Amino acid sequence: MSCSPAELKRKSDGFLAQWQSCKGHPVFDSFVEFAVAVSSFTAFLESKGLSGLHQSARALEQNVLALFDSWSGDRIPDAMLEELDGQIGEIGARIATFLGDNAAAAPERRQHQDGSAATDLLATKNIWLLTATPDSWQDLVTQAGYFNIQVALHSPHAAPEVTQEPVMVLVDALGLEPAAFIERVQALRGRFSVSSIMGLNLTADFDAIKLALRAGCNFCFPVGTAQAVIMNRMVKLCVTEVESPYRVLVVEDSKTASTLIQRTLGECGIESKAIARPQEVLTSLVRFQPDLVLMDMYMPGCTGVEVTRVIRQHEEFLSTPVVYLSADTSVALQVEALRLGGDHFLTKPFNPVILNAVVQSKIERYRILRRSMYLDSLTGLLNHTTSKQRLDAAVSMALAEGTPLSVAMIDIDHFKKVNDTFGHPLGDQVIRSLAWLLKQRLRRTDAVGRYGGEEFLVVLPDSDAQRAQQVLDRIRVDFSHFRHPVQDTWFSCTFSCGIAELVPGLGAPALLKQADEALYQAKRAGRNQIQIVEMVAG
Ligand code: GH3
Ligand code: MG
Ligand code: MG
Ligand code: MG
Repeated sequence: MSCSPAELKRKSDGFLAQWQSCKGHPVFDSFVEFAVAVSSFTAFLESKGLSGLHQSARALEQNVLALFDSWSGDRIPDAMLEELDGQIGEIGARIATFLGDNAAAAPERRQHQDGSAATDLLATKNIWLLTATPDSWQDLVTQAGYFNIQVALHSPHAAPEVTQEPVMVLVDALGLEPAAFIERVQALRGRFSVSSIMGLNLTADFDAIKLALRAGCNFCFPVGTAQAVIMNRMVKLCVTEVESPYRVLVVEDSKTASTLIQRTLGECGIESKAIARPQEVLTSLVRFQPDLVLMDMYMPGCTGVEVTRVIRQHEEFLSTPVVYLSADTSVALQVEALRLGGDHFLTKPFNPVILNAVVQSKIERYRILRRSMYLDSLTGLLNHTTSKQRLDAAVSMALAEGTPLSVAMIDIDHFKKVNDTFGHPLGDQVIRSLAWLLKQRLRRTDAVGRYGGEEFLVVLPDSDAQRAQQVLDRIRVDFSHFRHPVQDTWFSCTFSCGIAELVPGLGAPALLKQADEALYQAKRAGRNQIQIVEMVAG
């Protein structure tokens, strides 16, 4: 899992304490606080990929929200209190068991930020594949091995004993009766708190997929899905980046209101900054880089709509979501506010659960939009423009701090032949597999971009050319061992690489040119190799 057991424990303790306090005093105000805690805890479990626990928490959340709608009288009815207590008790017990099982487990995340060797790999990820036809999955097992994903094949009827949960369980429906498949998935869902469950070889009809999802599958792949697609999803799940917390700028002249808003956002782990003076909005946008602005409607000297119109004059903030908060419920005002650059309108006093839900869903979409602007769609690496920007920034920083910096240009060998022989889609798959390998093997502080068709740019801060070469050469050797499956057979590919190291007095364009020349030398010297150019200050 991508969160530590300690973090899960802290979150669940907080959540359980909130319930105890609500149970002791089950009036509307403490119920609202508890509802926010349930929502926040559910979102936390989902964001950390704790699938089984998330499903239980979501069922609880639905129950709690239904109580919101049907609230009458001044306290939670006793029967409901008992039902919620039972549900929460089960979740608590499940988490305790899970934490007990994992107490001895080693930390799983790669430890790159602390500057450890770039060759540190992600800890091995264990996956189970329950299948009646193990032979048909051998290629996938081999390929996964290159990404440090260990796939263990088991019979669909066996239930291997382990203390530590696999990251993922793949259940092959081939050769199982539909009812037996569903039963198997339900049993696994009940047993595992964290593992993602993937159904393979399902009948491609609506009902079959619906039942599989209902039974607890997180992903379903119908019969005929290419193994490359399944592999793609496995790698994505195993290498998910830790997302930075959501950030909200609160523009609000009332200190009481902004304190309340910030507290509500904080309960969902959202970082926020509040400003009382609308004049400060532009500098705060630049410095704080929020994902969303929560805008009060009436402030001294101007309205929220006017502030939004000023923000929209700046191209970099054209798509930053703006959500208004106002005590004025006039429809005309709301329409006007939305027409002039706002994204949503909430009325005060706000319902904290709704406020957090709106903020989170707007930010989620905004981040997807931003990703599509910065990342390459085939590989998920930085795109051409963003990689060059990252290079510029890394060069400036290295020159200012006097630290080493290396740059590598990588180009797949004889790639035209791959396309001509096996077709463009398989060519794409080769590009993707190299992209994943680079991303997984390099540090998070390194920038990896798709520079062109089958060309990659890697920026390695704090690395001299020799160190960059060591790291990339291991990747080169492993990539050359990849078996890219095609029909009943497979083929392999290699790449060439040029490395240049920064010396004072030169900038990013010269560094890039040197790396390119080194790449050209590597090609001429026979390909499948790395050449280094030492830069000479000019
Ligand atoms: P060399 O060893 O000299 O690099 O030979 P090469 O055949 O790889 O030559 P080059 O790098 O010039 O060829 C790049 C080829 O990559 C040309 C183009 O058809 C193909 N290509 C570029 N972008 C893509 C892509 O997104 N997908 C696929 N499948 N092919 C691409
Ligand atoms: Mg105001
Ligand atoms: Mg090329
Ligand atoms: Mg090439």
